This record gives sequence, structure tokens and C-alpha cells, in this order.
Amino acid sequence: MARKFNFSAGPAMLPTAVIERAQQEMLDWNDSGMSVMEMSHRGKEYMSIAAKAEKDLREVMAIPDNYKVLFLQGGASSQFAMIPLNLMGDKTSADYINTGMWSKKAIAEAKRYITVNIAADTSEGGFTSVPTQAELKLNSDAAYVHYTPNETIGGVEFDYIPETNGVPLIADMSSTILSRPIDVSKFGMIYAGAQKNIGPAGLTIVIIRDDLLGTASASCPTMFNYSTHAENDSMYNTPATYSWYMAGLVFEWIKEQGGLEGMAEVNKRKADKLYAAIDATDFYGSPVAINGRSWMNVPFTLADAGLDAEFLKGAAERGLVTLKGHRSVGGMRASIYNAMPEEGVDALVAFMQEFASKQG
Ligand code: PMP
Repeated sequence: MARKFNFSAGPAMLPTAVIERAQQEMLDWNDSGMSVMEMSHRGKEYMSIAAKAEKDLREVMAIPDNYKVLFLQGGASSQFAMIPLNLMGDKTSADYINTGMWSKKAIAEAKRYITVNIAADTSEGGFTSVPTQAELKLNSDAAYVHYTPNETIGGVEFDYIPETNGVPLIADMSSTILSRPIDVSKFGMIYAGAQKNIGPAGLTIVIIRDDLLGTASASCPTMFNYSTHAENDSMYNTPATYSWYMAGLVFEWIKEQGGLEGMAEVNKRKADKLYAAIDATDFYGSPVAINGRSWMNVPFTLADAGLDAEFLKGAAERGLVTLKGHRSVGGMRASIYNAMPEEGVDALVAFMQEFASKQG
């Protein structure tokens, strides 16, 4: 059976090589006589799997030693509450940059715990651009600055890292982590749900600078306290063992592809090809400002939305699936994460050209 090119925003494609490796190891991991799913998280086999995954992620992202890497559950959505609960310290407010649906959710949740200053807001333009550094109204007294470097629904990605003058910068990297090299030292904390560029759903990765630990509010639940997990190597309770193992296989795969430099090279090429196809004809349009165009999530529209259903049907017949745009945006959205092969993008571009010329 041929695997489809799945353009889903998440859960998304995983590298075929990773799934094959998991398949080989499914019944009996490394002569342990059991599946990884069946192992005690405190046994030496599983501990070795967990430690290797962390080591490889540290290597791939060049994470400095003064950062902890946590393997949590609850999705990126739980972080929306955990961030203010852990990081407000003795401050009363935090700055949030509002660039789309996911920023909005983070803001709504933070407001339950802290005063939120909106440092910039692109909602008036329909969340189709990125504010410039000069447009950010940052407070030197903020507990932290939160932003979403890549908005998965709008397909809007920052082309720079905001300068916050010493205030910890917190980034929801759910849909951009591991897509290109980043300087981790510029961030107080990075977090991401796994189900796009990391592995299967059920795992949430938090990368947090040491000095931001230990300041959680007294009412912060134990399980929501980053220190709990940092002090227990993310094994305070039972972690998402299988997702963590799969993430480890993905990190190994990334190393084999030339690390994040290698990923970035292919990702840029894939995105360039797709945007070029969109821009080549009035038949297609991109709602996003050029400097805010995401490498990972590419929304596009057909000039005649009446043809959307036919487009989706024709694409599906060619094995190009899950291209329907988010219900709030309409049109199409092609998510082209690390595991989407370049041939998948080539096949989509060929179909787009064929479909447009047939209609034209
Ligand atoms: N933030 C971003 C940028 C996302 O794309 C998503 C999921 N699509 C979330 C947060 C929510 O993640 P989760 O479903 O893991 O809670």
C-alpha cells in the first residue's frame, strides 16, 4: 500500500523510516523481550531510551547546559496556564504578542492569572502579517514576553526573534520547532506539542532556562510546576513513554538528514516551490504578507471558491490528502513539516498547475 502525502496540520506525517524502525522494534525492543509500550518507565531499558532522546535533542538544537529539557503531557494547550503559574514570580503583568488563533488562546488563558499587555496585535489585518520589532510595545517590568513564532492556522511565521531587553522570551514553537536552526540562548523558554515536527501526539516538550525554575506561585498544582518535572527528569509520574521513544527516533532521523541545517535547506526549498506555484497565477492566492509566510503551514485560496471541492477531490485522487483549510480561514492549507518529502510538494505543485490550466 502506498503511503499518501498527508498535508495535515497535526497530527502530521512522520518519516517513513521512523515508522519502519518502530515497526521492527515493536514486539521486541533490543532483545528486551517486550515492546517499548510495555516497559516500566523506571527500568534500565526505558531509562536508556529516554536519556538518548534527550541527548539527541540537545545535540540537534544545540541546547545550552543551563537549560532543562522536559518531556511532559497535556499538550501545548496546558502550557498556556503553566506559563503564568510558573513564571509570574513577583510581577503582576506579562506581554503577549497576538498574531493569530494560538496566540489568542494563550492570552485568554493567561488572563486568568496575570494582567496581560498586548504588545502587538495583527487581528485587524485578519492575522496575515508579523509586527515589526519597532511596533512591539514591550514593558520592562513584564514577567515575560510570550509569542507564537509560527501560527499554524494563519500560516504566519516571524522572520526574526523579538528583542526583549532581558525580559524572558517565551515561544510556542509547536509548529516550527526543528524546522531550522535557532539560537536557544535567546529564549527563556520554548515549548511545543509533539504532533507536528517531533513525533506522535501525547508528548509536550519544554526547554526552560534554569533561572526560571523555582518561582512558581504557591497555588500552582504539583503536576503543573516545572520544578517538579525538572527535579525528577520528567519521571515524577508516568510519562508518555511511547511518544517519547518515537520522538527519539525522529531526533536520530534528523541527525541523519544533516541536522537542522539539513532540514532548513529542504524546508526552504519546499516552501519556495509551493509559494512560487501560488504566485505564478491569479488562479491561486496567498493571504499572508510575503515576509510573514510560514515554511511549515501554507494557506492558499482558489480565486473561485466554488472550485474548492473539485480541487480537494482531484488532489485526493492523486494521494494528496488533508488539504482543506482550517474552518476559520477557508480555502486550502498545506502543512509541509519536516516529514513531508519534497516529492510530496512536487506532486502538489504539479497538480495545482494541471488543475489551474484545466480551468483556465
Ligand atoms: N499552539 C500551536 C501553535 C498549535 O499549532 C497547537 C496545535 N495545533 C497548539 C498550540 C495546541 O496544541 P495541543 O493540541 O498540543 O494542546
